[in-house]
Amino acid sequence: MYEGVVQDLIDELGRLPGVGPKGAQRIAFHLLAADPADVRRLADVLVEVKAKARFCSVCGNVAEEEQCRICRDPRRDPALICVVEESKDVVAIERTREFRGRYHVLGGAISPLEGIGPEQLRIRELIARLEDGVVTEIILATDPNIEGDATAAYLTRMLRPMGLQVTRLASGLPVGGDLEYADEVTLGRAFAGRRSAGE
Ligand SMILES: [Zn+2]
Repeated sequence: MYEGVVQDLIDELGRLPGVGPKGAQRIAFHLLAADPADVRRLADVLVEVKAKARFCSVCGNVAEEEQCRICRDPRRDPALICVVEESKDVVAIERTREFRGRYHVLGGAISPLEGIGPEQLRIRELIARLEDGVVTEIILATDPNIEGDATAAYLTRMLRPMGLQVTRLASGLPVGGDLEYADEVTLGRAFAGRRSAGE
């Protein structure tokens, strides 16, 4: 245990995802030694992100306005929706420049082990977006792992009877991993080679 505020900082950092106790300690001492102006900038952006950033009312992506930049862009094809787990997947797919439609961010994947069922994901919001009949194809771009596959299978069963074309990214993505870890070329290729889901 360190004295007072240093230990408080380590405790707070240690609660962040992907930062273990050792990492928290390393970051804390980095900050202690850092230029005050640099630390100030970090502190400011932490406060600012909570004040300004939110989730898009349409797709669930991070946004600075009521709707995200992609949902507001009239050049994006409203007939295509690509379903992803997290906002970071939107960034990964945008980088490939393969997709000109819109997104839907579920906010996770079905995981019975972690107690995450379909009700915890933004699936109702997705169904609501399909009501006006503008959307013709849903591309399932969940992660290539057990939870991602289960989520895609669930959505396929639900969406197919609605008369929509439901596609899934082609294989070739690193199995068991996150979409974001695939390089641009591989992800772009998986996107271009998408196939009907569940076949
Ligand atoms: Zn949006």
